[in-house]
Amino acid sequence: MKTYQVSEIFRSVQGEGPEVGMDALFIRLAGCNLRCPFCDEGTRAHEGGPMTAEAIVVHALGITHGDRPERVILTGGEPLLQADLALMTALRLNIAPVSIETNGSDELDHNPELLAVLMVAERVVVSPKSKRLSRVLLDRGPLVDLKVLVPLPGDIEPDDIVELAKLPSVRDLYLQPVTPRDWKDNAIGATLFRANAAVARGLQLALAVEPSLPANRRHWRVLPQTHVWMEMR
Ligand code: SF4
Repeated sequence: MKTYQVSEIFRSVQGEGPEVGMDALFIRLAGCNLRCPFCDEGTRAHEGGPMTAEAIVVHALGITHGDRPERVILTGGEPLLQADLALMTALRLNIAPVSIETNGSDELDHNPELLAVLMVAERVVVSPKSKRLSRVLLDRGPLVDLKVLVPLPGDIEPDDIVELAKLPSVRDLYLQPVTPRDWKDNAIGATLFRANAAVARGLQLALAVEPSLPANRRHWRVLPQTHVWMEMR
């Protein structure tokens, strides 16, 4: 029976993006195809515990005690390296509609069920970490929301997010100043957070007057990682 490498399953509040504040069950699949310098997930590709879809559901139901969350958040690592229709269906039928957080990279196009998985997702949030993005996801998939970390990660430049914002497949747009876990207690963390927030605000203002963006695509929202503020997982 097929198994998925799972890092952790927990319940919390969605702290980022379009579903911020939502009561959610997080399923973090292990491993990532990228190697972002600020994250060690790419080097932990095989550290997750193997679980069948049924075992994931049983574990999740044990956490929720019959009080179903509003949403399942399938995250990672990079969840679309492993997610398939069987897992999506099991989660949706037994727990809640499933939203996906993905880096959206072009290597995801190797997943033969990528399009099917995207189509049954309640919401797809793309947080790009490199310029090389999945054409299946952006050209053939459902509407996606775009969440861009600040400072801009990898080789991404402001011109790249302008081009992404022009895509018809992109719906809502978020600039997310990275919020260090210790930002309240550590002067360096607090300074970093303030700097990231200031840069995000600057980008928001610059994009609002970016002449090549249609007027209705200039409404980027700045949204910090609110779960960090709330000291939640
Ligand atoms: S894409 Fe996300 S999970 Fe993967 S290495 Fe980068 S930050 Fe980590």
